[in-house]
Amino acid sequence: MERVPAVEGLFSEKDGKAELIGSRCTTCKTAYFPKAAICHNPKCDKSEIEEHRFGGRGKLWSYSVQNFPPPPPHKFDAPYKIYALGVVDLADSGLRLMGQMQVENFDEIKIGGTVELVVDALYHENDKEFTSWKFKPVA
Ligand SMILES: [Zn+2]
Repeated sequence: MERVPAVEGLFSEKDGKAELIGSRCTTCKTAYFPKAAICHNPKCDKSEIEEHRFGGRGKLWSYSVQNFPPPPPHKFDAPYKIYALGVVDLADSGLRLMGQMQVENFDEIKIGGTVELVVDALYHENDKEFTSWKFKPVA
């Protein structure tokens, strides 16, 4: 089955390694995901944005359990399966972002625990597997 990103240009998957495609201001080091065209840090002297890839590990800041299906345009495989949405501080980046948790059981999820950025299936449509980034707890 062909594996394609649910949204183009937000992340990449190379040799099993997941990376988010964002940007960073080279002057003040502020990180942006998705990419920003200009630096939004009011204390920044000079906006100098360049593409930056974020990945690796992070720390779970908080999460919530999605007990009911999300409204359109969100897509999911039927029947709807309850999932957890994590908020993660990505290491050495200054980024805090959301992503589905990749777990078998919710008791694997620990606030403050280490998670790893992965790319995984989000839904299937027209014989294609649509993917997104997710966070997987690291034991
Ligand atoms: Zn800046």
